[in-house]
Parts: sequence; structure tokens; C-alpha cells
Amino acid sequence: MRAVAVKPGTKDSLHLRTDVPDPTPKPYEAVVRVHSAGVCATDLDLHQGSIGRAPAGFDYLVIGHENLGTVEHAPRGSKVRAGDLVISTLRRACGDYCRPCLTGEQDMCVTGNFEERGIVGLHGFMSEAYAEDTFYLVKVPPQLAETATLAEPMSILEKGIDHAMRIQSRFSWEPKKALVMGAGPVGILGAAALRLRGYEVIVASLEPEGGRKDKLLAEAGIRYLCVKTTSLAEATRGADAQDIVIDASGSEMAVPFAIEALAQGGICILASVTRGSRPITVDIATVNRNIVLGNRVILGTVKAGRRHFEMAVRDLETIEMRRPGWLANLVTRRLPYDRALEAMTRTPDEIKTVLQFA
Ligand SMILES: [Zn+2]
Ligand SMILES: [Zn+2]
Repeated sequence: MRAVAVKPGTKDSLHLRTDVPDPTPKPYEAVVRVHSAGVCATDLDLHQGSIGRAPAGFDYLVIGHENLGTVEHAPRGSKVRAGDLVISTLRRACGDYCRPCLTGEQDMCVTGNFEERGIVGLHGFMSEAYAEDTFYLVKVPPQLAETATLAEPMSILEKGIDHAMRIQSRFSWEPKKALVMGAGPVGILGAAALRLRGYEVIVASLEPEGGRKDKLLAEAGIRYLCVKTTSLAEATRGADAQDIVIDASGSEMAVPFAIEALAQGGICILASVTRGSRPITVDIATVNRNIVLGNRVILGTVKAGRRHFEMAVRDLETIEMRRPGWLANLVTRRLPYDRALEAMTRTPDEIKTVLQFA
């Protein structure tokens, strides 16, 4: 069958293949016909050869992790049936029997030897079809048929927010204000998830005000703030202290400001996989003092398991119900999968590019 693949470790290796073996499902697996797959910075890194590992026995890796498809065949008695729209989670257990992996929380694996479909050691979803254990499949309602690929990026912050709430149950917390750094898909979706929960939400990013993202956020009742590095501190400091700060900016430069913007007892969710290494000077004595004296928390979130995918689908469903068509505007470019290479070049004002398979 046909698929979009890379040669892990090789620069500019994205290519189309026609020789990828058809899925051969095990008795507990469903076969899913892929409808669409979102493209993100991880796919770009895979194309650049800076990350990724091919499955055993292959010299290529089928990429794609933000997925949506239709069940073609499911084992009898499973919770999905032929014709169901589904998305699949991507992280799979390490082989080391670590406690989280053993109990179905692969996203919290503590050995780091996990595998991830489309990234590490397992083929992804940018192919015509795939086979998967039905445990990892999450059903999607038909009204999300064009937008459910957004559930994967959203699930990362569903996990972050859920974990933050569990941590914050440590005291009588009454959060009202939230700041999201970064107006990429993850930032916008995280802001939307917080707005659904009643927060006063600001999204801060570098794009000028009045653009496409600003308008989209305003429609959802979210304030957009253009912050160049110099004004960031002022914009987020003091009276504007935030109960929750999410960093989804992709920039290490934003992290000190994210922490500094926290109110007493507040929690900062870091979600940017920053690249390379770039030393910056931070007054760690002040940062530490503020964390200690203000009972502040900093937490990281990456990938997500079933539960947080389900939360993402529920939230997407609510957003679609309250504001029909808003989510569709986040998909700013749709390309047939054989133009995947074009998707590796970002266009200005782009939010999310989705490849169509069927
Ligand atoms: Zn992604
Ligand atoms: Zn593990």
C-alpha cells in the first residue's frame, strides 16, 4: 500500500512509497482505513533526520501520528465496529515492565524505552490503512469527521490540565485566569480547553494583533496579546498574575516568563519540546525564591494516553456544538497525501496542515 515515509537519521528524506506491506491484523486488532493525518513540527524533525527510529526489519519509518480513520474490520466483541470513525493513541509500552506501562499509562513510562507510532520504532498513520489493538482506538462522533485529527495535539494539554488539577487538589484553589504562551495548534487548542472550563484566557505570541489567529481566538472569547520578548515581562507580570500558565510556544526563551507570570499557588504547564541547546542567563535565586515562597508548581506534559484522547474528543465535540465551524478554521491547509513534501514548508499564518488519504 501507499504511505509517506522517512529514512530515520537522513536529512530531507521524506518520500512516498508504494511497497509498504498491507496491515495483517492479529486476532485482537482492528484494521482502520486512514482518512486524514495532521502534520506537525515532529514530522518536520523526522524529515530533517534529527529524530526517529525505523521499526525492526525496516530501513524506513512511515510517519504520521495525528490521525483519523474508519474501522474497516474489527474483532468480534470489541468496542469498535466496521464503519466507526476512530483515532489511535500513539505511545506503546516499553519492554521493561515498568509500572506505568504495565498499568496502561504508557504516556508516563519511566524507563524511556517506549515506542511511538510514526516516531519511534513503529510505523505511523500516514498510510492508506493500519492495524491496531482496539484498546488504543478512541471513537469519534461524525460531526468531527473533518477535524478530529486535532484531538492528538489537544490531548497533550488535556493531560497537562488534568494533571495540574490533580496536583492542585492539594489546597482550596480557586483559579480564574490562564495564560497560554504560543499560538500554534497546541496553544490554541489548550486555550480553547481552558475557556470551556470557564477561565479568563489570554494567548500570548509574537504574531501581530489583528491577524487570523487573533480573530479566531476572539470568536472563542479568548484575548490575544502580541508580545515581543521585551514586552513579555510587563504584559504578564504583577497584577496580571496567572493561576495557570501553559507554555506551548516552542521557544525556551518563553519559559522564564511563563514561570514569572504565575500567581501565588499557581501552576505552570510546560509543553514545548525545545530543540537543540541554547544557554540563557536566568536569575535562579529569584526564580527559586518565587517558586518556594509562592507554593508554585512547574510540570511537564508530553504525549497522552486513551483517557486524555477521550477528553480531547469530548471537548472538541462541545466546541463544535457551541461554535459550529470554528474548529474547521484551525485546519488552514488540506493537501492530498502525495503532496506531503509541500506540507513540510510552512506558509505564513498557517495553523494546521492536514493530509488527506481518502
Ligand atoms: Zn504532532
Ligand atoms: Zn515503561
